[in-house]
Amino acid sequence: MNDGFLFHRKTREVLNRHAAEGYAVVVPLAATEQHGPYLPVFTDSIIGNHIALEACRKASSTMKLLLAPTLTIGCSQHHLAFGGTLSFTSSTYLAMLNDIGESLVRGGFRKIIFLNAHGGNEPLMHQAAQDLAVKHDIWTASSSYWSLSRTALNEQNAQDMGMVPGHAGGFEASLVAALEPDWIEAPDRAAQPLHPQRSWINAGPAGSFVGKHGQLTGADGYTDGYTHADAVKGAECLQSIIQSTASWLEQVVNWMNERMEVEG
Ligand SMILES: [Zn+2]
Repeated sequence: MNDGFLFHRKTREVLNRHAAEGYAVVVPLAATEQHGPYLPVFTDSIIGNHIALEACRKASSTMKLLLAPTLTIGCSQHHLAFGGTLSFTSSTYLAMLNDIGESLVRGGFRKIIFLNAHGGNEPLMHQAAQDLAVKHDIWTASSSYWSLSRTALNEQNAQDMGMVPGHAGGFEASLVAALEPDWIEAPDRAAQPLHPQRSWINAGPAGSFVGKHGQLTGADGYTDGYTHADAVKGAECLQSIIQSTASWLEQVVNWMNERMEVEG
């Protein structure tokens, strides 16, 4: 299977040449954090790694694209209280993403794309993408897989499985069931109640943040149950997420290439 797009398979010599040839580098962001009582703490990394791998496999067949290793520890401070979580503080995570970007810039790359699979990373990812583009004469982009695939997931009625993407609920359980079914602990799906007491506060106009101490993670560390989790539907959703992500990568890299031609 073609995996010639993997950054970490290459030698220094090849990567230096690819940098000079204008290759874009995709950096996948994920997490190792509690996902309720039954889903593995690697849930976001299993999902994010698969999406990044398959979307880049598609997109790299038509453009110069490399996939860096998935950053499997993210900013998950709001999960620490539950245990089973490895996390950077927000300031460390922002600095770490900037350092990864700096490394790529020092290596000669001028197109950096962050692709995210964990909500807590999102604002810091966008900030790092902005910081890097302010500091260096480069192009950056950043997005999370659920934003890229929202329309497609709506059309597939993904919400029938649970909140999309939610946290450790029916949707994520379906994706893990499609990819690593043996990693799910609970044989009895009813064990995780369908609607735990909602504790996320959604108030104010779109774009606002309203939060309360201890209530940023969903009751008992998950947003919804997985009575309606479905491995087959999870696999179908993964396909459309991969397609949407690959299309976005193509659009973004084409845009960067056009700008480069115009602006040098
Ligand atoms: Zn998750």
